[in-house]
Amino acid sequence: MHSSLTLFLPIPNNKSSKAPTPIIKIQSETPSKHATIPSTISLLHTCQNLEQLKQIHAQFVVVGLIRRCPMAGKLVESYVSTSHIDHAWSVFDRIDGPDAFAYNTMIRGLTVGGQANDSLLLFNRMVLNGLMADNYTYTFMLKACSRLSALMEGKQVHCMIIKVGMRPDNYIHSSLIHMYGISDSLDCARKVFDGFSEENTLIKNAMITVYLQHGRVDDARDVFDGMMMKDDATWSAMVSGYTKNCMFMEALGVFWEMTACGAHPNESMVVSALTACAQLGALDQGRWIHLHVCRRIEAEMSVVLGTALVDMYAKCGSIDNSYEVFRSMTRRDVVTWTAMISGFAMHGYAEKSFELFDEMVVAGIQPNEAVFVAVLSACTHAGHVEMGGHYFDRMTLDFGITPSIEHYGCMVDLLSRAGHLAEAEDLIASMPMEPNPIIWGTLLGACRNHKDLARGKRAFNHLIALEPRSGDRFKLIGHVLAVAGKGEDAIKVRKLIKENEMGTTSGSSCIEVDGMVHEFVAGDIGHKDAREIYMMLDEMKRRIEEVGFVARREEVVLNIDEEEKEIALSRHSERLAIAYGLLRSGPKSLIRVYKNLRICTDCHRAIKFISKEFGREIIVRDRSRFHVFKGGECSCMDYW
Ligand code: ZN
Ligand code: ZN
Repeated sequence: MHSSLTLFLPIPNNKSSKAPTPIIKIQSETPSKHATIPSTISLLHTCQNLEQLKQIHAQFVVVGLIRRCPMAGKLVESYVSTSHIDHAWSVFDRIDGPDAFAYNTMIRGLTVGGQANDSLLLFNRMVLNGLMADNYTYTFMLKACSRLSALMEGKQVHCMIIKVGMRPDNYIHSSLIHMYGISDSLDCARKVFDGFSEENTLIKNAMITVYLQHGRVDDARDVFDGMMMKDDATWSAMVSGYTKNCMFMEALGVFWEMTACGAHPNESMVVSALTACAQLGALDQGRWIHLHVCRRIEAEMSVVLGTALVDMYAKCGSIDNSYEVFRSMTRRDVVTWTAMISGFAMHGYAEKSFELFDEMVVAGIQPNEAVFVAVLSACTHAGHVEMGGHYFDRMTLDFGITPSIEHYGCMVDLLSRAGHLAEAEDLIASMPMEPNPIIWGTLLGACRNHKDLARGKRAFNHLIALEPRSGDRFKLIGHVLAVAGKGEDAIKVRKLIKENEMGTTSGSSCIEVDGMVHEFVAGDIGHKDAREIYMMLDEMKRRIEEVGFVARREEVVLNIDEEEKEIALSRHSERLAIAYGLLRSGPKSLIRVYKNLRICTDCHRAIKFISKEFGREIIVRDRSRFHVFKGGECSCMDYW
């Protein structure tokens, strides 16, 4: 503990004026013929709602219990347990010399009820009044400090625990770990953790949660792997922690490990697992969870779980199943509608999105910002520039929603994809807020697609002012230069990225085969069946070239000769995944591939040829939408 720390909390002093000892023998202030003290107290336990509680409260006043502990403390407890903090507070405030139980109850109520600041102040009063805090009090004080991210106060509480010579229990230890974690003092959290040598699930869970909150996934995993006993909270923390840190394969891995142990996942774990399936495009696993796990949780699907299923099916390319779940839900909220509308948008069914939006408004659901993002993205994927403008205006005029930067982003995307680059640039200039890198990146990407070098350079200059070291942005301007025929400059950009060691997001593609997700990066040779995959790639290349496919070399900005460029293109991650799909799936079955970046034009053309040559329907989800390749055509009509 730092010696110069100023303590604002008083140190408990046993000599200070003690609160009056509660009078056990009670004489009622207004004697009543009808109620006795024991019967009034016992009534508290049978009370079911606020009205009944208020009636008993009145009885407390009548029989004269309202100012006296421990009885009045019981009333405070009843109000706290039913989340009526204001009522609890008004009773507490009138007690003559509240005892430790009353203080503890009130401190718990305030902390849990979101009034952590008041909780700290009350603790102050408790100590000043000479009452001894116990493990229970300190646990809730530490929780209050966590809620306020109040590191200094938290350290003072920790100090007090040590100074009064208390033996902290598991709850205090885990609350200390949480408090230090939330205040970004991971080293302190770890010290508390290391100071506790016994095997204790509660404390280990706390450490795991703290690590995952800070993205220290490997450290969390170390603690997890070293645990003898895992409970629901352990599994839940790992599954949701991996999902939040975008490690979806690992999230599903832990989820299946848990079910294999015979544990039953709760709703939040299932929602996390479904999110992971959605991100990986793991349709088979998502469907299995739907059929075998969701139905076991509850008879009627909750809104949150139903929405997760709608989202999972839509993102895994099964829009029909998504819509089926959506229609089967008896309760839906605005998030459910948004998931369905954006599902249709991703699949290019703009009209369906518009219809659903109208249906939602008729059903009396107030649209929020996210719904408009979904509707505007439907316009973007279908190239409905006018409809986009219509919804953008309606948002403010009919629903009083001020467009956020995300809505401007959608409009810039819509205009620039449709080739209205000047309008998009004007819209950016007219924005009431500072454009973010995503918006400039959108314009820059469109400049590549529409070969507009001058505007691309302007967008790039704005971008590097905001993100001077983003390799992805430099890579993109390299592409703009390459397609504009400035190959030499493109190579210089490439060198710059290398020399300055700027990180770029590498593309990866996933495919699910027999319930297993396989992930590939460009030029990947790490897969156990790599030899077979590369033989299939050669066959794919040979067969599509025989029917007229020619690779467009400008797509690759690499300092290598023409032939090598072509090889690099044919080894893009989505092609490796498709090759694996062709090898391992039934002759006529559908191939679904999920890519984290935008699919390049060369792969898009190649996959059209592959779908025809191999007689397969191939669905590729890239960063923004689904492409359904069939018989040499794509559902996006080359607009993406
Ligand atoms: Zn490609
Ligand atoms: Zn397409």
